Amino acid sequence: MLVMTMKRLQMNLVFLGYDTGGIDGKKGVKTKKAIRDYRISRGLGDSEIADQKMIDCIRAEIIEIQKKIGANPDGVAGNETIAKKEEYDKKVKNYGWDNVKHFKKSEFNCKCGCGLNNMNLNVVQIADQIRDYFGKPCIVNSGSRCSKHNKSVGGVSNSRHLSGKAIDIYIQGISGNTLLSYTKQLVNQGKLRYTYLISNSNAVHIDIL
Ligand SMILES: [Zn+2]
Ligand SMILES: [Zn+2]
Repeated sequence: MLVMTMKRLQMNLVFLGYDTGGIDGKKGVKTKKAIRDYRISRGLGDSEIADQKMIDCIRAEIIEIQKKIGANPDGVAGNETIAKKEEYDKKVKNYGWDNVKHFKKSEFNCKCGCGLNNMNLNVVQIADQIRDYFGKPCIVNSGSRCSKHNKSVGGVSNSRHLSGKAIDIYIQGISGNTLLSYTKQLVNQGKLRYTYLISNSNAVHIDIL
């Protein structure tokens, strides 16, 4: 069992946007309300008690963010995490299609021709990194998908292609397994949520949270 001091719990709640009335280690009125609001929004029940279920939930949530922003994933949103988050947000905010090195926006259009392109640049940025790593042409098989096209290609109903958070790519002259071993590294680094090799092809699916 992992414990979390009240102070650390407050740090995490504040980091996630809750008002605890300060980080003083005391369970005052505002901290109680923050705990309650957090619990309700995460489906943990209406209570002011930070039980093990809640501690596990908030720790996992913070670790997920820390992995994404490149902070030490210790489950407590301290100064390093706050600084890394600011850095990350700034980078994301300044990143536009002009900064994409290897792809044109149109390469991610829905392939049915409907014109949809809701691509999230965070995943495009990772595709750029993959393209850089292999140093060879990278072909986009699928980016954005409208629900009709998603259905027609057999995509699952909650596919991340629908929200522009997934890309299917292959690299010319590189086997699917070689590509996959790299994209799996990116998953382990927290840069991608998930990746898999698309059957009977050298293409992989990559997606983000
Ligand atoms: Zn479409
Ligand atoms: Zn896919």
